[in-house]
Amino acid sequence: MKTNLWENYDGEKEKEVEEFCKSYKEFLSNNKTERECVSFAVKMAEENGFKPLEKLIKENKKLKAGDKVYAVNMDKNVVLFVVGKRPFADGLNIVGAHIDSPRLDLKAKPLYECQGFCLLDTHYYGGIKKYQWTACPLALHGVIIKKDGTKLDFVVGENDDCVVGISDLLPHLERGEKKENVKGEDLNIIAGNKPDTKAKESKFKSFILNVLKQNGIEEEDFFSAEIEAVPAGKARDFGLDKSMVIGYGQDDRVCAYTTLRAIMETKNPEKTAVCLLVDKEEIGSVGATGIHSKFFENTVAEVMNLCGQYNELNLRRALQNSNMLSSDVTAGVDPNYLAVFNPETDAHLAKGISFNKFTGSYGKAGANDANPEFIAKLRNCLDKAKVCYQATEMGKVDQGGGGTIAYIMAKFGMNVIDAGVPVLNMHAPWEITSKVDIYEAFRCYIEFFKMKN
Ligand code: MN
Ligand code: MN
Repeated sequence: MKTNLWENYDGEKEKEVEEFCKSYKEFLSNNKTERECVSFAVKMAEENGFKPLEKLIKENKKLKAGDKVYAVNMDKNVVLFVVGKRPFADGLNIVGAHIDSPRLDLKAKPLYECQGFCLLDTHYYGGIKKYQWTACPLALHGVIIKKDGTKLDFVVGENDDCVVGISDLLPHLERGEKKENVKGEDLNIIAGNKPDTKAKESKFKSFILNVLKQNGIEEEDFFSAEIEAVPAGKARDFGLDKSMVIGYGQDDRVCAYTTLRAIMETKNPEKTAVCLLVDKEEIGSVGATGIHSKFFENTVAEVMNLCGQYNELNLRRALQNSNMLSSDVTAGVDPNYLAVFNPETDAHLAKGISFNKFTGSYGKAGANDANPEFIAKLRNCLDKAKVCYQATEMGKVDQGGGGTIAYIMAKFGMNVIDAGVPVLNMHAPWEITSKVDIYEAFRCYIEFFKMKN
């Protein structure tokens, strides 16, 4: 059994870990939607010399080895490239994470009034245990697009502001109404309880509409809006020993952040290095901003074109010859729920980045099963750099399972394996990770981007 990494770390290394995780916690606290994560990535990319692809195309610029370029898809999906010395047809080194997380989305017509309250109706996004989202402070993050195309950023509930939330039933009245029975349609956010005395009817809704009006928002604007209710508050150190991080959206922003930081460290790679941050993973990777869309393939074609290497056959070869880490979290063995884990084969917090050769469920169904030839190359690369990793599965056989973007990228014929940080409380409003695993993930992605074959 692998040792707890804190045993190997000296004071110097612990300082590096702390420093890295301090920035990580800031990132988590300030970026709670996929759009916020894309803006963050773009800002970091610009500061590190990445150029927007769209602009390069317009100006008919050429790209060469060592150049850095990024492309944004609908503000919810972003891809960054550092052009390698080798031809694209030799394949790329891709690390792909997702930046969407489970949450409650406001409906297109969310406002209504009931029993002297104004409420906001939601439709949950991704796999949640519904009762966990009641009785806790929620923030609202999103955008409203006015009819004339003006974009209003909308954030309420952070920085000592007011918060909103969903009420829960008191235990005294819970007979026959178990908390697990919270229904999707019951996830209604309480927005207010004060009447607009001037209004003739719907006084409570009217009061909230007036508040919104002061911010330039009309009721109909919610139709052209994306507003997500997320846990309010900051990511924090977790544990009396401060060895862990608790924060919202660590599935999969822990891998997104570490990948992003790793590509910033990547200079003049042999193979073109790619950081791919996608949306919609939690609902099946569908839609224009999920990995099932053509955006990634199209963007690779555009970048190859600017490098003077584009033709259809070269594009096919580039994708097929690529290596990919599908950087997504996995379940860490939880001492409170040992019944569902096999501690011998499952991931542990503080034992390094976790590699799942396959995911899927009930006989590996739906799994991308990584090739041992590819895994052997990775072992060689990571062992040389002394990156700490663990070879794992997610839970006992036939206990359940899950999927990632791995199998979707594998359709190009490339080598893909899942590699990410183990998490406790996955998909809960607050998820827990180990600081040393976060740091080892960062180190792993740096080494992966350097891989020569
Ligand atoms: Mn995930
Ligand atoms: Mn997930």
